[in-house]
Formats: sequence, structure tokens, C-alpha cells
Amino acid sequence: MHIELTDHLRCPREHAEAFLVLLPDRMEQRRVMAGHLGCAVCGWSTAWSDGVPDFGESWRGTAAPPFDAAAAHAMLGLDGPGGWVALGGNAGSLGQEIALLLPGVSFVAVNPPLDVQSTNSMSVILSGAWPLKTHAMRGVILGDDAAMWQEAALRSALPGLRAVGVGEPPSGDAQVLGNADGVWVATRR
Ligand SMILES: [Zn+2]
Repeated sequence: MHIELTDHLRCPREHAEAFLVLLPDRMEQRRVMAGHLGCAVCGWSTAWSDGVPDFGESWRGTAAPPFDAAAAHAMLGLDGPGGWVALGGNAGSLGQEIALLLPGVSFVAVNPPLDVQSTNSMSVILSGAWPLKTHAMRGVILGDDAAMWQEAALRSALPGLRAVGVGEPPSGDAQVLGNADGVWVATRR
């Protein structure tokens, strides 16, 4: 994972959102290839040595979402460099193509398919619980295997910015901007 992703990670346990402390063991440029992340609130921690932190109870996305990278890019409505975009489940399979459409943006793929590699521009995190903080991402795209993260994804988007997902569109304090062919685009009010 990219070292700057640390600021956007949260403890996966069910307590009030808490940041994680990083202890890097081995770096390659800005990537933490081996290290530890820990929570000062509950004592949770994880260690890794392959560039990919595993927060536990993770699963792997399979296949691909029902939209391509160009469509995902258009639905996010993003332009310009900087910041982070999160890809949940099999939306991670679009990562390399979306990265070409959004140069200068960093990506984090949570539970992507096995063939998605961790690179300088794309960090891979494995986790059973959504591992990203509130108001941390410029956009979030969930694959059709990550629908359970709808609420968390909307929360992780910066105010006024978008989350994209598959299935029932969100309700409650979400504003649905579009909903067609089983794919929704929304922001949190
Ligand atoms: Zn904790």
C-alpha cells in the first residue's frame, strides 16, 4: 500500500471511527511492502510482508462489474489530479483502465479479484469490513459483489462527491443522481 493511504484508513472493528498507526518495516519508494498497522483504541493490529495489508475476514472479488472503466469514470464525474478513489470488490478489475483516465489520482482497491496487482498508483487492501474513513475519497465505485458496503461507501466519499454501485439504490440520507440498468450513482446529503 501507498504510505499516504494510512491517513484514510480506519480500524475495521465496530467502535467509533479511529485512525490507524503505521510502523513501516520495508519501503519501495512510497509503497509500504512490509509493516504493521495498529489501532490505539482497541489494540487491533495487522502485519504484512507482500505489499498488501489484510485486515481479516476478507474475501476476493470475482469477475467484473456490469460497467466498464469509461462508464465508471463518467459516473464519478471526476476530473483533475489528486486525491483518492476507492474500488470495492470486482470494481477493482477496472483499476488500471480508470487510472489511465484519471492521471494523478491514487486508487485503493478493497478485495479486488486475484489478478489485480498492487502498484504505485493502486494500493490493494483486503478486509471484511470497509476499511476507509468518512469523507476520505474523491469517489467510490462498488462492484456487484460489494453491495453490502453501500452505506459505508457513501460515507467515505467527500461531501458532494459520488459513489457508484450495483443493485438497489441507496435511500435515507443519500441523494440518488442516477439509477438505470441496476447501476446507481449517489451522493450523501
Ligand atoms: Zn480499533
